[in-house]
Amino acid sequence: MIEIRNYIGGEWKDAISGKKMDVIDPSKGEKYANLSFSNEEDVKDAIHSAQEGWKQWKKTKREERVNLMLKLADLIDEHAELLIDAETKDNGKPRKLAARVDIPRASANIRFFAHAVSQFHGDSFVMDDGSLNVTTYDPLGIVSCISPWNLPLYLFTWKIAPAIATGNTVVAKPSEVTPYTAFLFSQLFHEAGFPAGVLNIVNGVGGEVGEELVKNKLIKAVSFTGSTRTGRIISESVAGEFKKVSLEMGGKNPNVIFADCDYDKMLATTMHSSFSNQGQICLCGSRILVEKSIASKFTNDFVQRTNKLKVGPPTDNETKVGAIVSKEHFEKILSCIETAKKEKGDILCGGHALKMEGEYANGYYIAPTIITNMDQNCKTNQEEIFGPVVTIDTFETEEEAIQKANATQYGLSATVWTSDNRKAIRMSREIEAGIVWINSWLKRDLRTPFGGVKNSGVGREGGIEALKFFTEVKNTCFSQ
Ligand code: NAD
Repeated sequence: MIEIRNYIGGEWKDAISGKKMDVIDPSKGEKYANLSFSNEEDVKDAIHSAQEGWKQWKKTKREERVNLMLKLADLIDEHAELLIDAETKDNGKPRKLAARVDIPRASANIRFFAHAVSQFHGDSFVMDDGSLNVTTYDPLGIVSCISPWNLPLYLFTWKIAPAIATGNTVVAKPSEVTPYTAFLFSQLFHEAGFPAGVLNIVNGVGGEVGEELVKNKLIKAVSFTGSTRTGRIISESVAGEFKKVSLEMGGKNPNVIFADCDYDKMLATTMHSSFSNQGQICLCGSRILVEKSIASKFTNDFVQRTNKLKVGPPTDNETKVGAIVSKEHFEKILSCIETAKKEKGDILCGGHALKMEGEYANGYYIAPTIITNMDQNCKTNQEEIFGPVVTIDTFETEEEAIQKANATQYGLSATVWTSDNRKAIRMSREIEAGIVWINSWLKRDLRTPFGGVKNSGVGREGGIEALKFFTEVKNTCFSQ
């Protein structure tokens, strides 16, 4: 049995209480590892180590920080096969997806922020009387980074890379549902030669470690990615603490399809934006809004293609849709489908669990599901399902498309399909979202700001935004 332990002060430790919890391989529905079940004492221990680590890290030259990060990125690439297998087992995603997206992106994150920090600089402003303002960006100290289960190592590294690059030390908490790659990462981090205490990983459930992780006075900033429900708890918990908080939360993203789009490209991309990673990507377009004149052709073609999607064990090369991440989430998605049925939605395909054969018989699989004839105000269209489930609705005018696109509490991302550039600009200006893709989906340039509006997020990650988030800006004015 694999033992996934905390990484604190450069050592691997069990939880102080000795408690452990099970880690499940969702493709088989069976336990494969023990995880340290930490509590606030472990968080305090990690914060203490981060404090000790910071004494050295804040004096470490930038060039040395950059070199350590580049070495770490190389180590991730060298151990890619191990990490791909681990992510596949832990999360249930198709192995091919972990190999194409998750693990390459983890090393890219580290490399990107190593390069970015080497170009990160302050500014100066000369006044008419000759006074000189010098603006500097200094590390905050100890920060906490909390990440979810859907893109485990990808999002874990996306947070800690800018934090460490800018000279902070980190207490990180990967999701208890998918902690394996963060544990393997700690070994590579160690091997790269970072000083003890620069990265500390505390495992366990949010309810036990969360409060200390965000409220402790020594934690200067909290970077969180996860559900809007947890984001709200964190936000309430730090209210009055005046610390920096970045919240990347849920979505219910519209995929707006106009009749004048490049139909074949749209259809192929819509398959990905609907069902990639079993629909468990915060950016998936779960509400498809299609112009009425092409709605029936689109619906037929989309259903036909979806029926052909191969759902299966993650390690099978042909699999396009793998296992749902956990039993709890599997049951949640099925209950959302039941709600859609009660709301009188028409299930055009899927709508049920799937049973695999042999060793995968107890895994958590759901057939990709398309639902139609649902009002935008119903629960199915309002609440994040975060699974292989999409709805189709129609519109006749641009105004109606905008009204429906904006008709939720969320505002993370949107996709618009049209060959009319002026229409695309109008749509992008009107849609309430932090990210809008025109004629594409999930094209990511790591320099761009990333985040949501409304109940999808507060603050932005990515590029310079992340470097600024993890630093305190100071202006010094020199006068004669
Ligand atoms: P979650 O909110 O349940 O958990 C996220 C992390 O927060 C986990 O590490 C969890 O242990 C921790 N946590 C839970 N309770 C906590 C508390 N009280 N205090 C501190 N930490 C706590 O989310 P999840 O189910 O792991 O992930 C799925 C959600 O994440 C979806 O809503 C999805 O849209 C969202 N997500 C958003 C983005 C984005 O960039 N906006 C990216 C990926 C996922």
